[in-house]
Amino acid sequence: MLFVRGSASDTMWPTYISMRQTQLFTRTRKEAPKDEVAKNAQLLIRAGYIHKEMAGVYAYLPLGIRVLEKIKQIVREEMNAINSQEIVMTALQRKELWESTSRWDDEVVDVWFKSKLKDGAEVGFGWSHEEPIGEMMKSYLSSYKDLPVSVYQFQTKMRNEKRAKSGIMRGREFVMKDMYSFAADEQSHLAYYESTKPAYMNVFNRLGLGDDTFITFAAGGAFTKFSHEFQTICEAGEDITYINKAKGIAINEEVLNDETLKDLGVTRDELEKVNTAEVGNIFNFGQQKSTDLGLSVKDAEGKETAVWMGSYGIGITRVMGVLVEKFADEKGIVWPKSVAPFQVHLVMISGGNEDVAAEANRMYDELQEHGIEVLFDDRDVRAGEKFADAELIGIPTRIVVSEKTMAQGGVEVMDRKTGTVSFLADSKVIEHLTE
Ligand code: ATP
Ligand code: MG
Repeated sequence: MLFVRGSASDTMWPTYISMRQTQLFTRTRKEAPKDEVAKNAQLLIRAGYIHKEMAGVYAYLPLGIRVLEKIKQIVREEMNAINSQEIVMTALQRKELWESTSRWDDEVVDVWFKSKLKDGAEVGFGWSHEEPIGEMMKSYLSSYKDLPVSVYQFQTKMRNEKRAKSGIMRGREFVMKDMYSFAADEQSHLAYYESTKPAYMNVFNRLGLGDDTFITFAAGGAFTKFSHEFQTICEAGEDITYINKAKGIAINEEVLNDETLKDLGVTRDELEKVNTAEVGNIFNFGQQKSTDLGLSVKDAEGKETAVWMGSYGIGITRVMGVLVEKFADEKGIVWPKSVAPFQVHLVMISGGNEDVAAEANRMYDELQEHGIEVLFDDRDVRAGEKFADAELIGIPTRIVVSEKTMAQGGVEVMDRKTGTVSFLADSKVIEHLTE
């Protein structure tokens, strides 16, 4: 019922249910923890979406999970649409595997968390998965006929990041969607690589970030001169990007030099400097990674050839932070409809009047019957407190049932984003919400 866009098979997660606020164990707070400096985490903690365990490490609470799962579902649908298959790799990783690609060394990869098994063998906590997935694929790929293949996962990555001052936008534990593609020849490899760009833009469009997200030339790595990052304009972002909207060009500061400008046919003064957050990136490994790993298939002539590989990330929890940073106002969070934890915040202002309570409960049932996800503020607290909480939590539509609205035979509807208040007759409510 909820995920109308994809096919039935896209709906891995159960339809989300509505909820009474008296049953929600979290509550809003006036203040965020003193040591929390990021706006996104401050608001998410105050509203009860996340709990701070330590710097850069956050737990996701009932409201937070709903947002996270909705972001994941959008990503899932778009990755399924480019024929990627969902998997889940392991968090514990083998040292030998990363040694084979020279990436076990802390001098090379500076974010490793490592530990030891009881017998003394070293293991790493997954900060990325191209090595394990490439290695695993040796068990399944033997001929060019087995290709192309693309797999993806949602997983909690562990990274010993030096700085953790950006709230959930830079975690030491964070959720990433990482996808890996395998192809038999350069042409099909590049075709897949290119197909991920519109798929990624579909994701960011559906998240309401499309207009401010740019496919950005960035430092390349093994095979190509540039990689591509998806950079979203955001004050709190840690990156600096140079953008020319008209020409559709964006360049990460890291690679802004005369050669890049010449390559891309722009001049420095045609570019606008903006703060951005990297919400995703795509890498072309060519045959390098698979050569290191020994991942090959037989080509049409029966000759072993290294597989062409690409990797494609999206920062799921970072995106959630970016949405808070970009859309929040002085009163609190403002979620886009596509990822809001509920569509409607139904606020009962009964003042002990049982008729009002009965009407609010009837409205709660009716909304649910129409598949609308509702957070029902059925608490016995002051109206002012309810309204302030609703603004902090940021659900797109607030509906108030009170003595006053009942006397007029309807409800008060407020749009969280615009603040527009309107009155709707009872008979028009469902129509208004489902149009
Ligand atoms: P950054 O330059 O921001 O550290 P990265 O180059 O290390 O990112 P990848 O390793 O390619 O990024 O990870 C893929 C995506 O995961 C990134 O585009 C970003 O959106 C997200 N991401 C990376 N590190 C973090 C983190 N510490 N916390 C939250 N999200 C992250
Ligand atoms: Mg990083």
